[in-house]
Amino acid sequence: MPALELMVERPKLSTVIKVAASGNLPTVFYAVFILLFGLVCGSFNSVLVFRVPLGEKISGRSKCTSCGTQIANRDNIPIFGYLLLRGKCRNCQIKISPRYLYLELATAIGAFVPFFAFDRWLEILAWELFIVLGIALAAIDFEHHRLPDPLTGSLYLGGLVLIYLDALTHHRSHQLHNAFIASVALGAFYWAVSVLSKGGMGMGDVKLATSIGLFTGYISGTTVYVGSMLGFAMGSVVGGYLILMKKASRKSPLPFGPFMLAGAVLAIWITPIVTHVRGLT
Ligand SMILES: [Zn+2]
Repeated sequence: MPALELMVERPKLSTVIKVAASGNLPTVFYAVFILLFGLVCGSFNSVLVFRVPLGEKISGRSKCTSCGTQIANRDNIPIFGYLLLRGKCRNCQIKISPRYLYLELATAIGAFVPFFAFDRWLEILAWELFIVLGIALAAIDFEHHRLPDPLTGSLYLGGLVLIYLDALTHHRSHQLHNAFIASVALGAFYWAVSVLSKGGMGMGDVKLATSIGLFTGYISGTTVYVGSMLGFAMGSVVGGYLILMKKASRKSPLPFGPFMLAGAVLAIWITPIVTHVRGLT
């Protein structure tokens, strides 16, 4: 296991050369790069999730919410800062919510997904945007029951630019065309559900649906369909369970955004299985 050796002990030059010659060194660097990228995105996400719903600026140093002390550089390292302080403010010792830790971990893990699922750099970048902002949106939706416009707007615009560039450089105008149709169709569908459910489904969900249509529609029409079905299925199962357990009522609806987002990401893998089974290719 040369790759493992490299990570646990100070590598000898001969080991480095041997590993590089066997083609494993780039894999190690690649994995470390994705991990660092994910940690930085996770750190950014904890700022987004905390400040955007309160309408605060996302620039500027992080402060303790209790005593207002600025978080020192040495404590601001993603994940490790939290663990070193054992989840407490260095100044006032108040407990910092572990949600930030979970959010950073989820983002760091999620950042690996596009690197496995896609080949082209622009498509990888587009789905990095989808997953990182998607995790922030899901966390905000769970906590505040809304999907802030600056985030759904950034997701749509960023996705549009990256997908357009990918279509342009790889001659995929047909897929781009599908992405636009799926974006409008899925937005219209959720808008109809929102009108029929008399506000059970919010406008935030409708705006998010246009982004999900754009991203999944760029892969294929079946991906849009499978992603939406998975979202509805998971939302119904979890919602039904919570109503049964009396943890939710029909009048306090479950936030639906997290299920829409999870359905879209799962559809990347499940769609090829569905098309294979049904012989659609
Ligand atoms: Zn404090």
